[in-house]
Amino acid sequence: VIGVDEALAAILARFEPLEPEERPILDALGQVLTRDVRADFDVPPLTNSAMDGYAVRAADIAAATDTRPVRLRVVEDLPAGRCAERPVEPGTAIRIMTGAPLPSGADTVVQFELTGEGRGQPRGQEVAIYQPARPGVNIRRAGEDLRRGATVLAAGTPIRPAEVGILATMGQAIATVHRRPRVAILSTGDEVLEPGTPLAPGKIYDANSYTVAAMVLRAGGQPIRLGIARDDVDDLVARVERLERVDLLVTSAGVSVGDYDVVKQALNRAGEVTFYQVRMRPGRPLAFGHLGGVPLLGLPGNPVASAISFELFGRPAIARMLGRRSWERPEVEARLADGSIDNYDARRSYYRVHVRREGDQQVARLTGPQGSGILSSLVRANGLMVVDEGTPSVSAGDPVTVRLLEE
Ligand code: AMP
Ligand code: MG
Repeated sequence: VIGVDEALAAILARFEPLEPEERPILDALGQVLTRDVRADFDVPPLTNSAMDGYAVRAADIAAATDTRPVRLRVVEDLPAGRCAERPVEPGTAIRIMTGAPLPSGADTVVQFELTGEGRGQPRGQEVAIYQPARPGVNIRRAGEDLRRGATVLAAGTPIRPAEVGILATMGQAIATVHRRPRVAILSTGDEVLEPGTPLAPGKIYDANSYTVAAMVLRAGGQPIRLGIARDDVDDLVARVERLERVDLLVTSAGVSVGDYDVVKQALNRAGEVTFYQVRMRPGRPLAFGHLGGVPLLGLPGNPVASAISFELFGRPAIARMLGRRSWERPEVEARLADGSIDNYDARRSYYRVHVRREGDQQVARLTGPQGSGILSSLVRANGLMVVDEGTPSVSAGDPVTVRLLEE
């Protein structure tokens, strides 16, 4: 029997970031850059207008007032996406749209609201300006966002929507990232049926391979559902031997001490096992080792034990293969609303709770019965209240730590 931290460390030691691949930037969402990304040009590439208005020379309008506007000759009308054909010479202005490159000669932009056009005067050869403007106002300088040659994203950066956006800004359609791990998922058990088929006496539907596949997707891996193996060691070993190019095999059930614990038997026959028991609740039986060279994480059969074991051990393994340097969930310090907890056998326990702010404090409420097979209380939960091995009991009102289930 080992602790959760020890088990996690032993598992993580067996995984490395996977080799680089090139991906279209949107497909790379959640993947991690393998090398620094530099800007090939200034962003914005050219100094441009931050407003719809008139590009002018500040010196020309220094004396403008509400009662004595300065009139400038309008020499061009410049939409975004085009460069001016002529400069702004003294006494002239160019009508300009947001994003259009600043014409030479101009050093400021006066927004429509401060011009005759913005005050309802008809547009003509001239525009009236009613206020002075300092040079540089309403202008975005070339390179003010990104400087050509600068490292914009460092190797090791996970790609979120903002990173997708900045890669696009730099004109880069492809990112070089650690490839996604391929995670094969196999349920075991003679009682387990595929959803969508008729229920039969003594049978249950396969929740685990679906829950785990969903968690693999959320973690950034590529799930490969292999279906359901019978409680038959030969069937299991044969299915695993057919696997190709799999980075991790996750099985469900068959790792406890019952009569038909096939995963355990298969590991003993065709693989190697690292451990079988983790001091945690829900869950405790957990196999980690390899089968035919493929790393294998054997989850317990009870659906909540299976899901929480995957959250604690499978998700970090995927994160590591993706090249992520951290994967901790956010934690909230809260007070237990009601009920009491007796950690009688000193396991690290994860209670399904719903945590929310009530007045000036965070309050955690148990979401229902905490049996390791009761998925409905996991459905109602937004976090797991962690009760450490060394904490014998928790009562209503006590401070507790809740690990959120989503980022
Ligand atoms: P076992 O680890 O094989 O002793 O299974 C423990 C419990 O989990 C039993 O009640 C099984 O029926 C249940 N179980 C096993 N596999 C699944 C599965 N894929 N989906 C839902 N429940 C399962
Ligand atoms: Mg079983």
